[in-house]
Amino acid sequence: MPKGVYLDNAASTSLDPRAGAAMRLYETIHYANPSSVHAEGKIAAQALERARETIAHKIRAKAHEIIFTSGATESDNLAVKGVVGAAGGRKKHIITSQIEHAAVLEPMKELEAQGFKVTYLAVNKEGLVDPNDVRKNITRHTLLVSIMHANNEIGTIQPIEEIGKICKEKGVLFHTDAAQSFAKVPIDVNRMCIDVLSMSAHKIHGPKGVGALYVRAGTPLKAQMSGGGQEFGFRAGTQNVAGAVGFTKAAEELKQKDIDRMASLRDYAIKHLLSIPHTRLNGSSTRRLCNNVNILFEGVPSGELLMHLDHARIAVSTGSACSSLDIKASHVLTALGESADEAHAAIRFSLSKFTTKEEVKYAISKTAQAVDAIRRAHNF
Ligand SMILES: *Cc1c(COP(=O)(O)O)cnc(C)c1O
Repeated sequence: MPKGVYLDNAASTSLDPRAGAAMRLYETIHYANPSSVHAEGKIAAQALERARETIAHKIRAKAHEIIFTSGATESDNLAVKGVVGAAGGRKKHIITSQIEHAAVLEPMKELEAQGFKVTYLAVNKEGLVDPNDVRKNITRHTLLVSIMHANNEIGTIQPIEEIGKICKEKGVLFHTDAAQSFAKVPIDVNRMCIDVLSMSAHKIHGPKGVGALYVRAGTPLKAQMSGGGQEFGFRAGTQNVAGAVGFTKAAEELKQKDIDRMASLRDYAIKHLLSIPHTRLNGSSTRRLCNNVNILFEGVPSGELLMHLDHARIAVSTGSACSSLDIKASHVLTALGESADEAHAAIRFSLSKFTTKEEVKYAISKTAQAVDAIRRAHNF
């Protein structure tokens, strides 16, 4: 973002230049179809397999358990509908949470319309699912549990390992949407007992329109796209080789030092924003994504604050990008027990590894000014 402060990295990030450079090679030189048998095809196929191995390694999976997709939306749809499709209607109960991304909630609604029973687990004030609630709601009809790893609006990281162990013990498949956590929070699909896991490239400085789905070997999954049988038959269509290469490069280039730096900038931002009177932190203070800051400003209509910050060329969000244009209260904040009061602004500031302390300081000072001006105008 030229000449502005971009703090909406939970919605999308800039492409890491090293990912861009790696992609260019497979768009302009080695552009052959990876399914072709000639030498050029093999070069593309080898690049795709290296990408698969790298993504697999990041989550302690095996290369043949990674399916490249067009992003986390497709991965979530394939996970939920694919598990249901393979079960052939034998079990018709699914457990999820009230704070999932639309890419999980919408497929759930479709399944309800088809006669499935879906349990939407409530969360506590910090946005945490209680693993005991998962256990209590599993019946002999339960096919799948789908609980996200980290929430896109409030950054809360769920107790995925406890939930996974319960699912394994009960013989229920476990899917997690890791679009926000992949490459930021350590993931071990075996230790965490995860059967299916969704990832997206553009949340970690990879390109838009690429993602992956981890499917534990032997998990029954029905393809949602038919065609040439690519991706082990789970996802037909010529693979986006350059996209997979860029995704992989971006994941490799997100280092522990970047995560530590983001976490300390996050803590700096939270501390200073909370020093503005009548503010609260949404989400958990301890189980929190390294780049998420979500603050509630009492007596400040969100649209007004967003507009003030936009005028100062600061890009933030009121929640998820997908719902920022509709006026109804965020389903995530509602689930935390926040009233749907229009006169409270919840603003998400999401950082990236390229965010500087100067940018954060600028955003804090402009936010403090705007909040003060808006409150005075409303006689708060
Ligand atoms: C961004 C996001 C998605 C959607 O990913 P796309 O790659 O944009 O389709 C799904 N779930 C969560 C939690 C996300 O943050």
